[in-house]
Amino acid sequence: MLIDGHGRTVNYLRVSVTERCNFRCQYCMPEKPFSWVPKENLLSFEELFLFMKVAMDEGVNKIRITGGEPLLREDLDSFVKMIHDYKPDIDLALTTNAYLLPQTAQKLKDAGLKRLNISLDSLKPEVAHKIAQKDVLAQVLKGIDKALEVGLGVKINMVPLKGINDEEIIDVMEYCMQRGIKVRFIEYMENRHANVELRGMHGKEILAKVKEKYTIHALGREGASPSFNYKIEENGYEFGLIDPHKHDFCENCNRIRLTAEGNLIPCLYFDEALSIAKSVKEGDIQGAADVLAQVLKDKPKENRWNEFDPKDEDISARAFYETGG
Ligand code: SAM
Ligand code: SF4
Repeated sequence: MLIDGHGRTVNYLRVSVTERCNFRCQYCMPEKPFSWVPKENLLSFEELFLFMKVAMDEGVNKIRITGGEPLLREDLDSFVKMIHDYKPDIDLALTTNAYLLPQTAQKLKDAGLKRLNISLDSLKPEVAHKIAQKDVLAQVLKGIDKALEVGLGVKINMVPLKGINDEEIIDVMEYCMQRGIKVRFIEYMENRHANVELRGMHGKEILAKVKEKYTIHALGREGASPSFNYKIEENGYEFGLIDPHKHDFCENCNRIRLTAEGNLIPCLYFDEALSIAKSVKEGDIQGAADVLAQVLKDKPKENRWNEFDPKDEDISARAFYETGG
């Protein structure tokens, strides 16, 4: 079992396979980064997997593949299969913008993928275009349909932004209700890479929008899940709120993150990371295990989004497209 320096059990590893993306979401990567990680610095699937085996052997039982846009990485299904073949019972999920799902969903399902989290910020083509800076909506909706058709579990992520998609909270929720899938509203997390003019909606404001039409009951956090769940009285539908600005958000954090170039990150907010690249390139399993132990020891108690002041210079420097959110 993996325990961090604050006594929390860590059983969840998120692995970013690329920082590249085919969207330019304003809250994540509004412009192409000045420099990409050169391709030769990316770890191969085999190298990433070597570390993942160490983590799985020590207690990780939940893995999420993310990015950037993970479906841009060639032969991703072979990576999924590697993980699935090693531990068929592992909770294996992927986060995607869905653009490439129409042509990849079946292969991913066949390789052993169980679940997808899909970003859907708007059901209006012009708003989706404004956020992703590309005309994406029709293809994203096709991707969602395809994922459901092949039998993958689907959850939807929406980041509500003031003056942009804040009037669509109920529409996106009802789209999900009709398909029997869960939506999770994510509070916008301020970071140095996002468009500086963006203002996110606070959890309370998101809930107030839902309450304009429905009566809701708090269900609580599901174990260590980042999502706080609510139930709609009128029809029993359950949705989630991911509220990193809330003071108790980090109390049960069970997550660590690995980037495509091998940086192991204890917390999404902070810059600190240790590299496993040298260990995995040399096949040094003990070295990789030592880095893992150190990162767990160093894992901060809590993020600092709850202290955030828009005038503050001390804003997270972590790029979501690098850590995978
Ligand atoms: N490209 C994939 C996607 O968009 O789903 C996976 C990577 S993306 C970085 C993972 C998640 O992080 C998405 O749900 C996205 O909406 C969320 N995200 C990115 N930047 C964010 C921010 N500044 N605040 C809150 N959520 C953010
Ligand atoms: Fe790309 Fe996902 Fe970031 Fe949007 S949120 S720019 S789709 S990595």
